[in-house]
Amino acid sequence: MANYQSIVIGGGVIGVAIAYHLARLGQRRVLLLDRGRLGEGTTAQSSCILRTHYTVPENVLLAQAAWRVYEDFAAYLDDRDADCGLVRCGYLIAAPAGEKSAALAEALAAQRRFGIHAEAIDAGAARRLLPIATFGDDELIGYEPDAGFADAYLVTSAFARSARRLGVTVRENTAVTGLRLGGGRASGVVCGNETIDADRVICVQNVWSGELARWTGVALPLAIERHSVMSLETKSAPYTRAMPVFKDLGTPGLLYCRSYGGAQMLVSEGTPGQALASPDTEQADVPLDKVVEVGEQVAGRFPAYAEAGLASSWTGLYDVTPDWNPVLGPHPEIDGLWLAYGFSGHGFKLAPAVGLLLAQAVLGQPGVVPIDTYSLARFAQGRLLAGRYGAGAVS
Ligand SMILES: Cc1cc2nc3c(=O)[nH]c(=O)nc-3n(C[C@H](O)[C@H](O)[C@H](O)COP(=O)(O)OP(=O)(O)OC[C@H]3O[C@@H](n4cnc5c(N)ncnc54)[C@H](O)[C@@H]3O)c2cc1C
Repeated sequence: MANYQSIVIGGGVIGVAIAYHLARLGQRRVLLLDRGRLGEGTTAQSSCILRTHYTVPENVLLAQAAWRVYEDFAAYLDDRDADCGLVRCGYLIAAPAGEKSAALAEALAAQRRFGIHAEAIDAGAARRLLPIATFGDDELIGYEPDAGFADAYLVTSAFARSARRLGVTVRENTAVTGLRLGGGRASGVVCGNETIDADRVICVQNVWSGELARWTGVALPLAIERHSVMSLETKSAPYTRAMPVFKDLGTPGLLYCRSYGGAQMLVSEGTPGQALASPDTEQADVPLDKVVEVGEQVAGRFPAYAEAGLASSWTGLYDVTPDWNPVLGPHPEIDGLWLAYGFSGHGFKLAPAVGLLLAQAVLGQPGVVPIDTYSLARFAQGRLLAGRYGAGAVS
């Protein structure tokens, strides 16, 4: 008998959610490995926005299932101390007339078909929700009240605590350096001098998934992008926690923003970021011309922010696939090997649902969506999950 039923490589929010759900569904011997500390990879850089607004229907269903977990987090984990830091402030999305507003109208209709409260509201109603912004009468504005943002550290640590309680072994500061491969199957991992046996290995390495491609010799479509995030502050127009998250499809950068620290605005672009040849999660400078470029777009929508100061800035990496959607499911060429990578800047909100979906698939159980939708094979088969807004994290 192998030491473990499952080994999960990677203790970001996705990896801990998978390990937790494997144990919740009955696996008693699960090992979660991370080369550093849990949650200190790209999860630590997340803006943590939660919404069900997507144009790919399977994404809507996953986000809806995940939202249900976030809004009743302690009960779901059966842990009264669990708190995901949810701020249920709602989500506003505005599109100029044309192709983007047609896509937005379709997305709202699809959400409603799934029983989600999502509606088009007029400029006056949008101003009442987000009084620091201006809205034009020619825009289509979508509103989703059951949305907001949460806290990456709280979510990751709560899943890890619950996973441990259910018997998952967690080892930090343990780098996987290779796979135990033979006869077309994976039967464990190599960590330096140590080999650990398992019935299966689930790779949740995000921007480090290139390592897996090298271990197996099977290429994985993956681009690594660096994105900049800023927080802006103006005393005359605080972005309070009562104000909704806002996505502005009318700006060149497809900006998104939310309250930060109760008074500042967290803002970032929704367009493709800076391509990197290798995963380097060290903080990079946000160049002044980027601050000015984003600041001008912000001021066009939020006039008081023309006077705003830059309070802080940071960078984070996306693991981007060709259709900006994750790869989930069994490896097509190696038995016992499973994939969960390519969250393309929108994995935090999906984490509880992806964790359950992957664990169900491992155990041969059906999930909320067919996991095959997200298979690696879709790229070769031309079954791309292309979103209606084009490249970007709202796919
Ligand atoms: C700037 C930014 C903003 C974002 N905003 C949002 C948002 O608003 N909403 C949203 O839904 N999503 C958002 N995301 C995306 C979301 O944060 C990610 O999709 C999610 O956190 C990815 O989790 P993960 O577990 O896949 O990856 P990670 O957190 O990167 O975890 C991967 C882990 O694998 C470990 N690892 C890798 N290789 C090995 C190895 N060989 N041995 C051992 N361990 C290994 C690493 O140490 C790391 O801890 C954002 C991302 C960024 C960067």
